[in-house]
Order: sequence, then C-alpha cells, then structure tokens
Amino acid sequence: MSEKDNIPYKTYLTEEEIPKAWYNIRAEMKTAHRPILHPGTHKPVTEDDLRPVFCDELVRQELNDKDSYIEIPAPVLDFYRMYRPSPLIRARFLERVLQTPARIYYKYEGGNTSGSHKLNSAIAQAYYAKTQGLKGVTTETGAGQWGAALSMACGYFDLDCRVYMVRISAEQKPYRKIIMETYGANVTPSPSNTTNIGRKMLKENPNATGSLGCAISEAVEVAVSTDGYRYTLGSVLNQVLIHQSVIGLEAKAALAKYGEYPDILIGCAGGGSNLGGLMAPFMADKLAGKRSPRFIAVEPASCPSMTRGKFAYDFCDTGMLTPLAKMYTLGASFIPSSNHAGGLRYHGMSPILSQLYHDGYLDEARAVEQTDVFEAAKLFAKSEGLLPAPESAHAIRVAVDEALKCKESGEEKTILFGLTGTGYFDLTAYAQHNDGVMEDYIPTDEDLARGFAGLPDVSDVE
Ligand SMILES: *Cc1c(COP(=O)(O)O)cnc(C)c1O
Repeated sequence: MSEKDNIPYKTYLTEEEIPKAWYNIRAEMKTAHRPILHPGTHKPVTEDDLRPVFCDELVRQELNDKDSYIEIPAPVLDFYRMYRPSPLIRARFLERVLQTPARIYYKYEGGNTSGSHKLNSAIAQAYYAKTQGLKGVTTETGAGQWGAALSMACGYFDLDCRVYMVRISAEQKPYRKIIMETYGANVTPSPSNTTNIGRKMLKENPNATGSLGCAISEAVEVAVSTDGYRYTLGSVLNQVLIHQSVIGLEAKAALAKYGEYPDILIGCAGGGSNLGGLMAPFMADKLAGKRSPRFIAVEPASCPSMTRGKFAYDFCDTGMLTPLAKMYTLGASFIPSSNHAGGLRYHGMSPILSQLYHDGYLDEARAVEQTDVFEAAKLFAKSEGLLPAPESAHAIRVAVDEALKCKESGEEKTILFGLTGTGYFDLTAYAQHNDGVMEDYIPTDEDLARGFAGLPDVSDVE
C-alpha cells in the first residue's frame, strides 16, 4: 500500500486556512498582456476611462500588474466563510471505474446556492460597489449563473441589481430567473426596449433571441447613463481572475497537506476565470521555473475561441461599446449555435489566459463535442455521485481522457481539475442526452470567417 492510499476522499481546509489575500498572476507574467485600448482613440485605457464603467477599486485591480497579493477585505472573507473553503475531492470512485493508476482530484465550486464559482467574484464586486456608496450595479447573464451569483451578493449588501438576461435563456431557464428575483434582482430579457442598443437590435430583428455580447452592451449602457450605478462582469476581466485565485490557493494548500502536486491541471474555459483562478498559484511556479505542470483549457467545439480563434484585438461586446482587448477571439459578432454549456459560449477569452497560451505557458487548448461531454458527465455522476454542470463536464471529459492515457502507459500522474458547478439547473440538457436527441454543432470555416471579418482595424497601433 502506497502512502498515497491514505489520502482522504475529501479535504477541507479549516476556516482559518482560507487565504487572506488573492493572488494576481499578472505581477509574475514574463510578457504582460497587451494593453486594453479605448475603442475610440485606440490608446491604452486609463483609470479615468474605466471609472464611469467599473467601481474605483475594481478599476485599480483591473490595471494592477505590480502587486502579487491583494488583501481580501474582511467582509468578503466573512461571506466566503458561509461556503468556503470548498472541498478538494479525490475522485477515488472514478479512478476505480477507469482502472487508472492516475490520482484524480477535483475542486468543487458548486456547493453554494448560485451553483458555481462565480460567487467568489460577485461578492467582491458587490462589496466594492457598496463601500463606494453606489446605489446599484448592472450586468448581463447568459445561462444565469453569473446573474444568480451577483443577485445573492447584492442581496447581502442591499444593493440594487439589474440583470440583462439573454432572451432565449430567460425563456428556457426560468428557474435561474426566479432565483435572481428571489434575491431581489430586476431581470430584463435582452435585447430589450430599455436601451438604445437593445431597441436597435429589436428593430433589425424583432424576434432576436439575444446573445451575451448584446446583453453586455445593454448593461454597460445603463450603467454609464444612470447616476450611482456601475457595470459588473463575471468573467474575462483581470479583476475576476484575481478574485477566482481563491480556488487555486485553496487547492494548492489542500494538496500540499499530502505532498501532492498536479502533473496535469485541467479547467473548462468560457471567459477563462475559473481556469485562471485554479491555475494561478501553480502557474506562478511554472513562470518561476520551479515546477512544470501541464495546463489544459477545455472549450466546446461549438465555440472554439482558443483552438480556432485569432489572437487579435477585439471588442468584448456585440454593440462595440467596450474597450478592445487583445485575446483569442471568434469576433464579437460571432454567435455560437445553441449548445448546453451556456457559460462557455463567449466569443473571446481572458487576455491573461490568451497571453499565457500564446507564450506557451498554458500548454494546450482542447475542443470537445457536447455528446462526448455528456457521456463523461454521466459516467462521473454515476461513479462519484455528483451531477456536474455541463460547463464543468468539459473538464471532466479531458480528465477522464488523460486518466485513460495513464492506464495505457501505466503512469501514476496526479490530475487536478476544476468542477465549477452543479448540474441541477441543466436538466433539460441531460434530458436531451437521455433521449438521444442531443446534437453536436461545429462551426464551419465560413461561419468563423464571418466573425473574423468584423474584427476592428487596429493597424494604427500594431
Ligand atoms: C460561467 C461558468 C463557467 C465558465 O466561465 P469561466 O469564466 O471560464 O470560468 C464554467 N462553469 C460554470 C458552472 C459557470 O457558471
């Protein structure tokens, strides 16, 4: 019996061991990501440019590439104690079913009512809005996880919360909308006639089902034109990756209790926040030349921003209101065909992750098809008991594939993946898979070319 056989199924840090500071990987990066540009002037954005959009402290975090650690404010830490530390689980039952010599660990972030890791950033963003004396915040939500998380956070700090929810999701996923409303949020299906961009979209197509990019435009428009409001975003931004580092810091500390360190680290990537957060402290070791874990980002084949996108400056929204970020992108006008991983349907990718991928520190991006993803999800549910969110199941698919490779080669690798959320609100997707009617959508090169054609011209700066 090897000493690793004694590792418990679940490892919780104590409340005292919750990290007291977030980790900012930007301070360690060899090549800084390219500056975020003002959409009009193409000059790097300044704090002054961003202050009408985001809370002051979040603007500072967004532009901070100096401080490795940023203290977690005491009220946020208090809130974290309601649902953190999240468990680090050794997937012993899955290992047994796969008959793999690999040791598989997952960090489970679905144990709070909003159902995903997004609460880690939502509570921080709501806190900074509150301390700045704002009346409220606006945001967009696709499948609804971010809107649910922000609603919880705003409910706690007694802030007004206005959510623009992609129309098709609001119709198909009424339960998440009800959660948001229960916590006091105001939910508007997008496109709506409450904003200029929404009215324009509806004029072009009265039956528009909406997209994340369009909902972002609406939420930004309302924030900058309403006194005492700011906009919030649940992924992609540097500030969000900073807040999500709590996942990686906890995971690293828990693994260290057993002398474990991942050979392979896997995360699903929508806008890159959970992977960026899980990976951050391990990436620091890699950048410092201390360890060399292999990092794998997993995305849906239907929205392949890293595997088939371009590394280019692009808008973060469809309405082209937001600054330009240099990132892997399919083009802000790209609308992915429907798939069940709503949280992975964004056209772009975190500039931090994009730069790390471009420089080869983030080793690999892998696109997977949703029927394969749901097969892995069901295998996982049956063996480990836990029903994963479709987004999370992308990481499970690749963890299973890597564990099976270890079975072939006999290598005892340590695999760590992020299990970002619960699948309770995605039962329609499971039903489709159960009924054998789930399809895989893969955009053609022509589909992608249409998205690339809309990329902004930045020849003046590049
Ligand atoms: C939003 C979401 C994701 C994807 O977002 P990232 O910013 O890439 O982490 C993944 N899983 C779940 C459950 C989500 O809600």
